Amino acid sequence: MLEACAEHGVPVVPYGGGSGVCGGVVPVRGGVALDLKRLDRIRGLRETALLCEVEAGVIGSHLEGWLGERGYTLGHFPSSIACSTVGGWIAARSSGQASTRYGSIEHLVAGLEVVLPTGELAVLRPVPRTAAGIDWRNVLCGSEGLFGVVTRAWLRVQPVPAARRFLAFRFPDFDAGLDAMRRVLRRGYRPAVMRLYDPLDTLVGVSGGGGGAGMVAQLGRAAFERARALLLAHPRWAWLAELAAGGCHAVVVCEGEAPLVALEAEVVHEEARRAQAFDAGPGPARRWFEHRYAISFKGSAVFAAGGFVDTLEVAAPWDRIGEVYRAVREAIAAHAVTLAHASHLYPEGCSVYFTFAAATGSVKQDEACYERVWRAGLAAAREHGATISHHHGVGLLKAQALREELGPLHAALGRVKAALDPHGVLNPGKLGL
Ligand SMILES: Cc1cc2nc3c(=O)[nH]c(=O)nc-3n(C[C@H](O)[C@H](O)[C@H](O)COP(=O)(O)OP(=O)(O)OC[C@H]3O[C@@H](n4cnc5c(N)ncnc54)[C@H](O)[C@@H]3O)c2cc1C
Repeated sequence: MLEACAEHGVPVVPYGGGSGVCGGVVPVRGGVALDLKRLDRIRGLRETALLCEVEAGVIGSHLEGWLGERGYTLGHFPSSIACSTVGGWIAARSSGQASTRYGSIEHLVAGLEVVLPTGELAVLRPVPRTAAGIDWRNVLCGSEGLFGVVTRAWLRVQPVPAARRFLAFRFPDFDAGLDAMRRVLRRGYRPAVMRLYDPLDTLVGVSGGGGGAGMVAQLGRAAFERARALLLAHPRWAWLAELAAGGCHAVVVCEGEAPLVALEAEVVHEEARRAQAFDAGPGPARRWFEHRYAISFKGSAVFAAGGFVDTLEVAAPWDRIGEVYRAVREAIAAHAVTLAHASHLYPEGCSVYFTFAAATGSVKQDEACYERVWRAGLAAAREHGATISHHHGVGLLKAQALREELGPLHAALGRVKAALDPHGVLNPGKLGL
């Protein structure tokens, strides 16, 4: 099929779950939507090698369920797990909520089968590592359907963790929480999940309720809706709400072998005490875990209230992350209510995930406001040393920002694309190409 499309210059847009949030599956020149969800077989598990062979259209939660029945986990838990596919994860360089322990998708891919834009089938066999030249697995992870269609993958799996501990804290401020988490990682520990919410995100998700559920419980629905409408129309008043938050909420999940989990949890407690954090017990983290996919699907209430909501995720090293958080937040908060949390933590830095919302009173003005938020937020991220995307990718939305981040390498990327896809048929227009 790809061969025929190449011959006739018909664009082909690979389509997994369609859950990408940057316009990666939007056809800019028409053509064929190549829906991969019928490649839905899980072909087997090699228990000794800890490898699972799976077709690209398999939905994340189906794979995790299948593995769970056999005592294994992939450890990849994007909030979109129920509506995204293995191929989409690879193409968009996805990262799950437990990436600190299990790694992101690029760490989980041991082998790949891919159909090149010319129609040729290429197989990168599953191996623990390779120095056989450039590792094409890495080239394909994040290629957003421009370099080939992923049809099959061999993924690294792990036994289901024997033990799990839930911890939650209230830190006096965002910097103190970041610092405590950084110290845990620096000491060599890798809790599966570490999430730290800034004051407004703490307030909106009080007690881990998420999506304002905690506030609704405290204020009553009518008062909550009035407060939300006021905030959406007047984002600059958000500081008033922040005062009510009383610090920064954090959840931590430790998992693995029981003695290691006990030790890890002790170290997290130790560093939290050092940062003067209040120990909120296991309840809030357990509640977060039980509802961990739900929060991302609560945005429709803002649209129903006549506004818009979206998210922007950046990443930077620890010695820049506080500055990046403040700069991006300030840039966005000039136009929209802005909440943020740190997640996906590494020994050298972490990601900050901003949620922004506004309601200007007209669709036209909302659109202009939305554009301003993205431009200001991405410019601030770049200026302060962050990458423009930690895990949502580029698609159409961040094309210009990608050009600026890559500099001359963006043109080089174009030359690689031209060599692989001489007719330019695979997913044209994405990644700014
Ligand atoms: C509510 C919500 C929560 C989310 N949470 C997370 C999160 O926690 N972590 C995260 O990383 N992302 C998250 N995302 C973003 C999104 O789910 C991921 O980018 C995911 O990897 C996309 O997978 P998909 O199968 O839906 O791909 P699609 O949206 O269908 O496609 C994404 C891109 O990959 C290409 N593509 C798809 N399949 C293939 C293939 N087989 N071969 C080649 N190219 C292909 C498409 O052309 C497109 O460019 C979230 C999205 C939503 C809506």
